[in-house]
This record gives sequence, structure tokens and C-alpha cells, in this order.
Amino acid sequence: MESRALIMTNEIFNDFMSPEYRTDELKTILGNVLENIYEPDSFYPKHIVGVIPLTRERMIEIERNPNTHIKWNHVLTPTKPQMILLNISASDETIIWDLLHEYGHLVDGPPSSEEGNRLREHDREKRAWDNGKKELKDYPQFHASYDKRAKECLSSYR
Ligand SMILES: [Zn+2]
Repeated sequence: MESRALIMTNEIFNDFMSPEYRTDELKTILGNVLENIYEPDSFYPKHIVGVIPLTRERMIEIERNPNTHIKWNHVLTPTKPQMILLNISASDETIIWDLLHEYGHLVDGPPSSEEGNRLREHDREKRAWDNGKKELKDYPQFHASYDKRAKECLSSYR
């Protein structure tokens, strides 16, 4: 039986990435992060996690938000799934960088209730980008592209 991580890797890679970005390296990076996300002993089933690929239009329609993000289960019961809503409209490697960022939030844990001030929020976003980048430690050729995406997003959170 194919694992959820493998099914999701093939779906994102084959259905949403443009052919010129379907390289072995990017597929390995995508496969590894999805395996981490679906890893039974880390986030699942303690916190059920799913990745849902959505177009920009669909993101706005259901979330009023075009950006990739994670929905936390604040009740911490296994009945309400946590979800990563992944904007797949870019169809290039930024899909994977955004997924690495959301994975970085999973590693970091849910925001605490006293968070919400802008400085702390910015720190939390920065930590998520830093956590995600650890998954690229064997791929220095992608660091500049990842950093560019991180910078773009960090400046938009303000
Ligand atoms: Zn974030």
C-alpha cells in the first residue's frame, strides 16, 4: 500500500508542478517534507495533519486568504484535523518552499494565546522559515531561491 506521504508527493509533483520544475532533487525534497509531516510518531495521530492543495481562487473563496497557511486545532483533540492549505497556483518550486515553511510552523508548535503582537508574530514566522530551511541542508543550490521567498513573505507579514 502506498503511504499518504507518497500519494501526496506524486499528486503535488505531477499535477501541480510545471514540467521544467519536475527534477529529482525537488521531488526528493518534497517527498521528505511530506514524510515528516505524515510521520506517525511526530504530529500524527497526536495532531492529525493533512495537506490540501488549493488554487489561489479556491483559497480566497473558502479562506478569504490567497496564501498558504496552516490551520491549528486549538482544542487538541484528534477529532478536528489540523490542515496545511497549500496554494499550488505558482506551479514552481515556491510551492515546496511554502510547504517547508508551514512544516516549520508544525515543528515550532501552535501559537500561544499571548502571541498576536506584531513583533512576536514576525519572530514566529521567521522561526518557521528557519525550521523549514533545515530540510534544505543538503541542497545549497536552492538556498538563494528559498531565502528570496522567505524574505518576500517576511516583509509582507510586517
Ligand atoms: Zn507562516
